[in-house]
Amino acid sequence: VGELALIEAIRQALSAPGERVVRSTGDDAAVVRSRPFAVTSIDTVADGVHFDLATHSPADVGHKALATALSDLAAMGAEPGEAYVALALPPDLGDGDVLELVRALADLAGETGTTVAGGDVVSAPGLVVTVSVTGWADSEDRLVGRDGTRIGDVVGVTGELGGAAAGLALLGGLETDLGDEVKDSLLTRHRRPTARLAAGRALAAAGATAMIDLSDGLATDARHLARASGLALEIDAGTLPMADGVAEVAAAAGRNELELTAAGGDDYELLFTIPADCWAAAEATAGVSLTRLGRALEGTGVQFPGADAVDLDAVRGYEHL
Ligand SMILES: [Mg+2]
Repeated sequence: VGELALIEAIRQALSAPGERVVRSTGDDAAVVRSRPFAVTSIDTVADGVHFDLATHSPADVGHKALATALSDLAAMGAEPGEAYVALALPPDLGDGDVLELVRALADLAGETGTTVAGGDVVSAPGLVVTVSVTGWADSEDRLVGRDGTRIGDVVGVTGELGGAAAGLALLGGLETDLGDEVKDSLLTRHRRPTARLAAGRALAAAGATAMIDLSDGLATDARHLARASGLALEIDAGTLPMADGVAEVAAAAGRNELELTAAGGDDYELLFTIPADCWAAAEATAGVSLTRLGRALEGTGVQFPGADAVDLDAVRGYEHL
C-alpha cells in the first residue's frame, strides 16, 4: 500500500469528528470552534524508550500515546477536545500494524470524547508517535496548575500506585507466583494507562488547588508540585494506595515495596492538593477512589515520614526502560 492509500485508510479508521470540529483531516489545517480557554499539551513516545514493540502490540502503543497526552489535560481539569497525531513509521512496521495502532488510538478518542482532527505520517528508523491534544474550559478558575497549593491543604491521590512499574518488571521477565488475573491487571496498567479525565474535572470543580499527573512517579512528581507551589509536602508512606500484586513483585525483584510504589512511573493517577473542607465533595464526585496521603506545610521538597525501611528522599524517580 502506498503512502496516500495508507493515509486514506487511517482517515477511515477515525471516527466522525465532534460537533466542535468544523474541518479536520482532508484539508490543509483543522478548524475548530473555540471555547474561551484552550489547554494544549504535546507528548511523544518512542520505541525502546517509552514502550518496546517486543512487549507492546501496535494497539498498546496507539492507546498509550493518546492516553499519556490526555492525562496532562486531566491534570489541568480540562475537557478533552482534539488530538493531532504524528506517526514516524519504520519500514518493518506493516500497514496492518499501523492501522491496528490507529484503531486503538481512535477507540480511546471515541471513549473520551476526543476528535482526531489532523496528523502527519513520515518514515523513520524507529516507531515514534507524537500526540498533541487540545482541551477546553469555559473559565480560567476551572483549570488547575501546579502552583496553587496552600499551607494546610490535604495531599491526595486518585486510584492506585505502583501497578505500572510492577507491570514493567513482569514484562522484563520477573518470575512471581502471582495469579493470572493480578498479573494481567499489572501488565494492563503498564500497557494501557487510563487518563483520569473525569476525576480531574471533578477535583478542579471541588476546589483542588494544585494538580499533576503521575508520569515519572509519585516521589518525583510530588517534588515538582512542591517546588511550583513553594512549600513542602508531607506524605505518609504508610498511606500509599498500593495496587494489588505490587508487594509480591517488589519482593520477587528484591526491592522495597514502598520504594517501588513511590518511585515507579507511568501510573497516570492524579496527585492533588485541596483544602480539607473540600475533601468530602471531591470524594463524592471523583468517580474513582481517593486516598489522603498527607498535607502541605512550610518548607521545601517532599518528606516521607513513616518510611523507616527505605530512604524515599533519595528516590530519584523513574528511569525509562
Ligand atoms: Mg504531566
